[in-house]
Amino acid sequence: MDINGKGVAASIRQAIKKEIDDKGLTPTLAFFLIEDHAPSKVYVGMKQRACKEVGITSIIETLQASITEEMLITKISAANANPEIDAILVQMPLPDHIDSNRVIYAIDPAKDVDGFHPVNIGKMLIGDSSASFPCTPLGICTLLEKENIETAGKNIAILGRSMIVGRPLANMLSSKGKDATVTLLHSKSKNLSFHLKNADIIISAIGKALFVKKEMVKQGAVCIDVGTNHIDGVLVGDIDYKNVKEVASKITPVPGGVGPMTIAMLLQNTVKCHKILAS
Ligand code: NAP
Repeated sequence: MDINGKGVAASIRQAIKKEIDDKGLTPTLAFFLIEDHAPSKVYVGMKQRACKEVGITSIIETLQASITEEMLITKISAANANPEIDAILVQMPLPDHIDSNRVIYAIDPAKDVDGFHPVNIGKMLIGDSSASFPCTPLGICTLLEKENIETAGKNIAILGRSMIVGRPLANMLSSKGKDATVTLLHSKSKNLSFHLKNADIIISAIGKALFVKKEMVKQGAVCIDVGTNHIDGVLVGDIDYKNVKEVASKITPVPGGVGPMTIAMLLQNTVKCHKILAS
């Protein structure tokens, strides 16, 4: 059975819009976008449309790829100091000559809507819910919750250990309240098939088209596909959806699974930043 991430995300967006309208909130999100990077342009365009739909004001600062790290940090400092801006998103990746960590450190943690600043990562580790949690892992946890998929005591195998998906997700799912036993797998892991076959829930975020095969999945497992890959121009996930759905009890399609949840969580985090800054 498909997990309808698109539908769940739509109902979250509706609730956000209602809260903004009912309470007369005026959240504003500032994007920093490298103008020559086509995929970033597409992602920011999608995020901006979602903002508009729920009543979040968005501002885009487009940057030449030749911008210096110093100049970008100066612009971020200005956004930090601007009381009209509640949330800041620097669309990654940045050009090679810029140290993205230094740029993330420059964002005011209270406006760090992606939840990538070390202060927010630290707060997430200790379970301080005043932090912005990274959007994709937060979206996956929310999706599991909304679909009534139990995580307590379950074996969850996560493929991919990036700071935007796998690592924070492993922390969230193994925290008190979620209570899963998490195995975090990466490119140096041995016996991947063994770990995957043992999992009640598989979450894949490696960016390898159709990598997870039916034979690797336990009968009745839940499969969550974060991957976005292209085969002959067609968007596909990391999981071999067509075949894996024969053994999985529930599975997210690509597109229409995790992606819309990531955007819904961005909107949710923006409103959260706005409310905290206004309080
Ligand atoms: P990333 O930073 O490139 O990390 C990929 C991770 O996968 C790394 O930890 C890598 O291991 C691991 N890996 C690669 N090949 C592997 C293999 N054969 N076996 C086991 N592990 C392997 O990627 P990312 O930014 O996390 O993104 C991952 C995928 O998710 C991409 O397709 C991306 O487009 C997608 N994504 C989607 C959303 C969404 O909202 N739908 C959001 C974020 C990302 P090492 O650490 O050992 O190199």
